[in-house]
Amino acid sequence: MDPQSSPFLSIVIPIFNEEENIPVLWERLSRVLAEHFADPAHSWEVIFTDDGSRDRSLPMLVDIARAEPRVRVVEFNRNYGQHSAIFGAFAEVRGQVVVTLDADLQNPPEEIPKLVAKVEEGFDVVGGWRQGRTDNDSFFRTMPSKIVNAVTRKTTGVKLHDYGCMLRAYSREVVDAMLLCKERSSFIPALANSFARRITEVPVAHAERAAGESKYGVWKLINLQFDLLTSFSLLPLQMLSVFGVFTAGIGFLLFLGLVAYRFLHPEGTAQGVFTLFAILFFFVGCQFVAFGLLGEYIGRIYQEVRDRPRYMVRKVHQQK
Ligand code: UDP
Ligand code: MG
Repeated sequence: MDPQSSPFLSIVIPIFNEEENIPVLWERLSRVLAEHFADPAHSWEVIFTDDGSRDRSLPMLVDIARAEPRVRVVEFNRNYGQHSAIFGAFAEVRGQVVVTLDADLQNPPEEIPKLVAKVEEGFDVVGGWRQGRTDNDSFFRTMPSKIVNAVTRKTTGVKLHDYGCMLRAYSREVVDAMLLCKERSSFIPALANSFARRITEVPVAHAERAAGESKYGVWKLINLQFDLLTSFSLLPLQMLSVFGVFTAGIGFLLFLGLVAYRFLHPEGTAQGVFTLFAILFFFVGCQFVAFGLLGEYIGRIYQEVRDRPRYMVRKVHQQK
């Protein structure tokens, strides 16, 4: 059998406007692959997804694929986001072990052998756990990730330190299971964990973004967080009812209190109006939060029932 047709290791890299990073990324990655995965039992392939880049990323990737038969490039017709890009590459992988990493060199390719070794040990999912995340990532970038991590730990029930790190390795079975998931709003690390039996984390180095800017603004992150929350748990919906019961209880106690106050101080003035307003505003606010939350779920249901494809592949570039 041609070992090339089914390699041992598949590396998956989503690319969105990363022209400054691609040369160094490819140089470091191919060095690691040459050093650690040279023997035929550890053959490899690399799959880049060009997620609708508007810079020179695509031609650069195609050049790499022309020179190296083990590299393929999945070209999307427009930008669909990081997780869709990874899915686009997942659909192409043929390896037994699948590693994902970011293109911006925040995930050092040198850590790949460590993750692969863990999968060979029998783990289904190996997450990278970024060490020393005190880099120049702005406050607005690290703060939301902290919240994302904390909420994810709660909603998915799997205690990992770092859900945001995309330097991760999966066994083939887990990737196949994820490909069966048709939902659009998926957050790969959490999805993978829901199919894995043995999960572990290894500490990995974390660097500053080598060049260019983070492709995630606060808004994209908020969206990601809602994806996570709504696709992996009904907890927020259940919290609504818990909160409803709780506030109704408080309201009732308050009512009793007011009645008692009336009887004790029949001459009391109408100061209570302001208190009432305060309470009213609070509850109206809560109601809007609740409506918003319901809206998030309904919006997502709407998106799912339309059943649009998650992404469109224009072409897969590879050497003949
Ligand atoms: N990315 C992508 N599509 C997007 C946004 C990002 O393919 O719409 C890729 C990007 O090129 C990079 C990875 O996803 O390889 C992580 O992006 P980024 O570094 O901007 O995210 P951050 O490190 O800020 O989480
Ligand atoms: Mg990054």
